[in-house]
Amino acid sequence: MANLRVTAGTVLLACVACSRTAPEPPREPQGQGAADDTHDATREAREPECGPDESAPPALATLGLERCHRRVEVRVANEHRDRGLQLLGWVEHMLEYNEAAFGTAPDVSLVMLDAAQWTQASPVPVPYGLPFITDEQPPVAYFPATDDHALAGLIESHRAAMKPVSVERIERAAGSFEHGAAMFAFVGGFHEIGHAQARALGIETRVQWFNELVATSFAYGYMLEEEPELAAVWDGVLQGMHEAVQPSHRTLAEFDEIYTGLPIDTFLWFHAAFQQRARACVDTQGPAFLRAVKANLEAEGPLTSEDAVDRLNPICPGFTEWAAGFAAG
Ligand SMILES: [Zn+2]
Repeated sequence: MANLRVTAGTVLLACVACSRTAPEPPREPQGQGAADDTHDATREAREPECGPDESAPPALATLGLERCHRRVEVRVANEHRDRGLQLLGWVEHMLEYNEAAFGTAPDVSLVMLDAAQWTQASPVPVPYGLPFITDEQPPVAYFPATDDHALAGLIESHRAAMKPVSVERIERAAGSFEHGAAMFAFVGGFHEIGHAQARALGIETRVQWFNELVATSFAYGYMLEEEPELAAVWDGVLQGMHEAVQPSHRTLAEFDEIYTGLPIDTFLWFHAAFQQRARACVDTQGPAFLRAVKANLEAEGPLTSEDAVDRLNPICPGFTEWAAGFAAG
């Protein structure tokens, strides 16, 4: 969920071991629009090909991972192949959706690691399970291969302070609260792909909260239309965290200044606030919201935080009051 530039990248969240009552695999794209010129329907019927990872980057070469590929590639241990293929299918489906909605989609590569592999090979020193995407080309998104990741534990530790309605919403969407907490890292991967999508469209800026809100808008917009149960997990967990967390910092200026140095629960509290605005805009406008953001940014380059608010407010009224709410603490 963060653009971690430490070595390269963007951090976020994705879960992965959602094997119990995991949502169904991605559906085939619906409607004629899916069969575009570049990626026709024959690809959908083709099984990903898996084999020894002969092209692994040095950091991953000693892990003995497989590489499965179709449009997107995923590097994953054989024992977690099913989960890797589920992720691959979801990401491919999001990219198809984005091509139809925004005219283009980025190339991305996926890596799925268990806790020991994460410690050994992750290019960014974040706790196990906090999904992130690098800013190399093509970007590489990292996901946990099991459910026992730090993000799930963090979310579960805040359960008692969430409103019952939020807990019930997570349970309804995911089958159980525990599963929802584990899935959050997986679902958060869509936010990571959202960062890559923003880059591909040239709407990444120096304002980190703006970048996070845009990435979330891509992710939420996709899930709302194509995977609504995942959208409910994303929205429900973030809403619950916003209720439960007493943030150590709470202004947009602090978010941009401290960014990945923020405690993870505070980081999620901010992401919940970004999701609230993304939801307000995407629920009413769909992909037209992000198309308008892109059109508005094409004329000029980097924004200040104040400029970002001024640009967004005419597109989706409410940003001025939203930003002022942060300043008021
Ligand atoms: Zn992010």
